[in-house]
Formats: sequence, structure tokens, C-alpha cells
Amino acid sequence: MDPTWVASWIQSARTPRVTDAIQAMIREADQTVRTRRPICLSNGNCCNFERQGHALWLTGLETAWCLNQIGCTPSVEQVEQSLRRGDCPFLKEGACGVHWARPLGCRAYFCDGAGQGWQEAMLEAWHGNMKTLHNQLDIPYLYDEWRRLLLVFAAEGVR
Ligand code: SF4
Repeated sequence: MDPTWVASWIQSARTPRVTDAIQAMIREADQTVRTRRPICLSNGNCCNFERQGHALWLTGLETAWCLNQIGCTPSVEQVEQSLRRGDCPFLKEGACGVHWARPLGCRAYFCDGAGQGWQEAMLEAWHGNMKTLHNQLDIPYLYDEWRRLLLVFAAEGVR
């Protein structure tokens, strides 16, 4: 991949425009979850992609924004270990270690059956918003699986 892609995502993710747009989506997510009230068993299943049979997808820009909030990027080795385990590199002792900065997809996904079915339209809308942001900012668009994106950032030496 062209290394300028990662640089442009990181640079854009630090702008108020991107932060405001993502925080608005987070507020919407929190409000929707409060209204729907899905049950969270706090068992970490949602973060174990293999076990749960789902995948977390997002854009390069959202990945950069999350990593900027987190303040560090897992190493290539840490991401590869998580790929072998089938979970997320930020999963710590059954809970999210970066709860405040987790991707939008994490905020919408619940393993509770009653918490499924209503997320699709919301996730689709957020994805559309993120794609529009990429276009408006004139930065490369990439939509991919979370750990594959983390590997791209780690391989570029983003810390
Ligand atoms: S970022 Fe947090 S909530 Fe999302 S999959 Fe990873 S550990 Fe789970």
C-alpha cells in the first residue's frame, strides 16, 4: 500500500471536522443503544470474532481516528497474535481495553439476539458518512477488516 495513505488518514483524523463528525455518530450510537437497551453479558464474545462469527469493518480514516484517541498502535506481532487467536488485540481479560475509543461498529454490535437486526441501517448510514468524509477531504478510501487495517498502520511504523 502507498504509505501516503496512512499519513493522510492520520493527518485528517486530527482535524476538528473529522472529530466532530465521528463524535456526532458516537452520540447517535449511544442514544440508539440507550433506546434499544440490548443486553450486554460482558463476556467479551463480541470482541472474539472467530467465536462469535462476525467481523468488524471500518475505513482507514476511522481507524486513524480511533488510534489517535487510543494514543498508540499495537505492534505487528500483537496484531498477528490476535489474528491467530481470532480476537481483537485490544481485548484485555474479557473486556475492551480501549472502551472510550472503540470503533463505531463495536458500539453497535451486541451478541444478544434482541440487540441484533436494528444495527444494519445505522451501520450503513455511518459507513456512508465516513465514505463522504473521505471524498470531501479528498483522501484515499479503504474499507477493510479491523485487524488488517491495524496491520497496515503497524507496518507503517505508526506508534
Ligand atoms: S476495540 Fe474494544 S470493543 Fe472493539 S473489538 Fe476490540 S476489544 Fe472489542
